Amino acid sequence: MQQGKKRILTGDRPTGNLHLGHYVGSLANRVKLQKEYDSFIIIADVQALTTHWEKDENLSRNVYGITLDYLAAGIDPEQSTIFIQSMIPEIHELTMYYSMFTSVNVLRHNPTVKSEAAQHGFQDMTYGFLGYPVSQAADISIFKAHLVPVGDDQIPHIELARKIVRRFNDLYRPVLVEPEALVGDVPRLVGLDGKAKMSKSLNNAVFLSDSSEQVDQKIRNAVTDPARIRKTDPGHPEICTVFEYHRVFNAGEAAEIESDCRSGSIGCVACKKRLAHQLNSMLEPMRERRGKYQNNPKQVKEILMEGTRKAHSVARETMVEVRQAMNINYFDHEIHL
Ligand code: ATP
Ligand code: MG
Repeated sequence: MQQGKKRILTGDRPTGNLHLGHYVGSLANRVKLQKEYDSFIIIADVQALTTHWEKDENLSRNVYGITLDYLAAGIDPEQSTIFIQSMIPEIHELTMYYSMFTSVNVLRHNPTVKSEAAQHGFQDMTYGFLGYPVSQAADISIFKAHLVPVGDDQIPHIELARKIVRRFNDLYRPVLVEPEALVGDVPRLVGLDGKAKMSKSLNNAVFLSDSSEQVDQKIRNAVTDPARIRKTDPGHPEICTVFEYHRVFNAGEAAEIESDCRSGSIGCVACKKRLAHQLNSMLEPMRERRGKYQNNPKQVKEILMEGTRKAHSVARETMVEVRQAMNINYFDHEIHL
């Protein structure tokens, strides 16, 4: 552990590009906290396979795509360790040990597991999918992380991770750290359709990698207050997705826009233009950083290799303690037959 610093562990599934929801839910906190904390960011490719086992051809592209998203968003590879989950076999070993004392019913009743199973149309959940919160508990605790910056869908999983750590420490020896969730300013950003949460897979996202033209076009087509037909009709910002985005991404102008919308003095077209402008100014520095890294794929690969090497050595150290605590370090002591 970096001297005196507490540790963060968080990450994403490489199932697609990162979007504004990821940014306000978790990524912005990671960028903000990376100086203060020893930060580890996991690209959870094994967890991606729990729902995407048949689409493995996209994995490699998404692993590199998400790394670019991180670097573009301001994750500094000098301060944060970015690594690939499948390349740390000790995580899978620890998952197996945790699975010995984790109840299947607890997993079945986990609200996020239930809603994701419904979203993916799983009638009969696979062993791997049902168990992914156990593997997530291993991801976090193998790094002895104190803090986990996440969106609110992750709260039941962090709760489970805390229970597993407590159980392990009680059963064997107190070697693991109980993690805490840190939910972002916007725990669940709504999508452009105004219905579901903004998501990689629902075609309702503004991606961090979108060009300014794409952002303009997506915001132009975003859902607003359906009762507002003419510009002079009084609007209802409280039910308008575009206003929700103003509140989150354009806080300085939100109060003025709210009153102009209610009085019918700003129309939806002008209101959307102001939002798109604001989003583009936020995304512009990210586009610049992305451009630099995109022109240097070798450097991006090296960042991942170095991060994975560092994460692996931390995980190895924890597992020595875990095996000792569980008395499965058979060759480490004298034997008496
Ligand atoms: P998938 O549909 O593949 O599960 P996802 O969009 O849910 O993708 P994840 O990789 O599962 O993304 O989640 C990464 C992190 O981003 C989690 O901490 C999650 O809570 C957060 N997050 C995802 N979508 C949003 C959103 N719309 N608002 C706030 N946080 C979000
Ligand atoms: Mg998800």
